Amino acid sequence: MRIRLYNARILTMEKDSPVFTGEVWVEDEKIVHVAEDRPSAGQANAEGFSAGQTNAEGSSAGQINAEGFSAGQANKEGFSAGQAKAEGASAGRTKAEGSSAGGLSAGQSLAGRLSADAFCSGQVLPEVRWDMELDCKGNLLMPGFKNAHTHSGMTFLRSYADDVPLQKWLNEKVFPMEAKLSGEDIYHLARLAVLEYLTSGITAIFDMYLKPDETAAACMDTGMRCVLTSGLNHFTSSVRQQEEEYRKWNNANPLISYRLGFHSEYTCSRQLLEGVAELARQFKAPVYTHLAETKKEVEGCRERYGMTPAVFLDSLGIFEYGGGGYHCVHMTEEDMDVFKKHGMYAVTNPASNMKLASGTAPIAEYVRRGIPVAVGTDGPASNNCLDMFREMFLVSGLSKLREEDASSLDAEEVLRMATVSGAGAMGLENADVLAAGRLADMILIDLHQPNMQPVHNIPKNLVYSGSKANVCMTMVNGRILYRNGEFFVGESPEGIYAKCGEIVKRILQEV
Ligand SMILES: [Zn+2]
Repeated sequence: MRIRLYNARILTMEKDSPVFTGEVWVEDEKIVHVAEDRPSAGQANAEGFSAGQTNAEGSSAGQINAEGFSAGQANKEGFSAGQAKAEGASAGRTKAEGSSAGGLSAGQSLAGRLSADAFCSGQVLPEVRWDMELDCKGNLLMPGFKNAHTHSGMTFLRSYADDVPLQKWLNEKVFPMEAKLSGEDIYHLARLAVLEYLTSGITAIFDMYLKPDETAAACMDTGMRCVLTSGLNHFTSSVRQQEEEYRKWNNANPLISYRLGFHSEYTCSRQLLEGVAELARQFKAPVYTHLAETKKEVEGCRERYGMTPAVFLDSLGIFEYGGGGYHCVHMTEEDMDVFKKHGMYAVTNPASNMKLASGTAPIAEYVRRGIPVAVGTDGPASNNCLDMFREMFLVSGLSKLREEDASSLDAEEVLRMATVSGAGAMGLENADVLAAGRLADMILIDLHQPNMQPVHNIPKNLVYSGSKANVCMTMVNGRILYRNGEFFVGESPEGIYAKCGEIVKRILQEV
């Protein structure tokens, strides 16, 4: 599958790379080429691109193909049919290919050809038979957001029990409802979350929930990228189960990976935590957990062990190979030293911390100390929306308030946290920026909407004024899963809403 996205403004998120106008080529799951439209790039390039553009113009048919293809993505049968159609329909391109000795036939790899050819030394680019050409119309292509902390299966609790204190919320509302969930329920509820992620330009999630297998199935079936982690605690899962999950999901499917984790210090016995430390040593792997979310949690840990959670967990050797903490609101100097020492990530969840009155995380302090920060929405029960635009605004806005300094955490820094740094936290370094060889996880942002005009500064527009309404396409692993309000995830949104509605109705009758 070869997709050409042209006439785009491109924000690659590579260090110090400004926005430019150009195009991105995708082959299967990877980006194979990112190029700036500029004559100085060499006549050969220019010619290569004009040839491509002639194709594009000659092929509004190409667009129709493309639509046919996307619709076909809904099911696997349709998908191959769509592909056959795309190939068969591009008569113009077949001709172009036939006329070019250097043409690229369907069996040849575009990536291989681009790297093998002296692309920079002035050869004409091969003609390419595209499966889809997308005119981005001057809108912005950028890496997708990485939602670095989620509980996707919790969509059934959205707006069910708000405006109550955290412990009461957990013990009286969340736990009794969760006790009624089946694996199949979690599958359907996670698919609902995926729809929401896609509308917000989220291309990967770091998910902790009961029954990770079901969340993985929901993500594989919809095409979403998911890094699973364990919510191990006294009541659910076990060290042994986590070991099995780690082995299974790090080798099962290109969309899914797995990182070690546990729910929190306060829901695990010392023995369980020692088991996690042993796993970390065994796999030489990082570990992630809810950490320093509330003052109460930190005080409780001091009473139990005479140490803060970060220092206590470090004393068990849990963070020997790094990892990170979700929330990280109430951190001491010593806690930050632990993070710094092990290269750990602070995953901030500002909307959830605000709504549950947990506090404001000292993000600017983390940045000053060189502690990497990623951003997550947390679950839909505590947030309640799964929207990275709102999170980004809050990360920056709350930091300015906390520091009493309007220059604290600029928009570019926050955008980096929500993309590149999130990828680092999740072990998705191959999906961090737009560059040849990286995974094709990207989004198209509509700049032709009132809230994105004028375009003085794109990162600032995105963080301070951007909204999920600006997301016009979300691509994961080279597949368009969402475009112009339509989903291509294997089932209609109405079908997924109906299923989730039934689940909620049943559970409310049972509790
Ligand atoms: Zn959480």
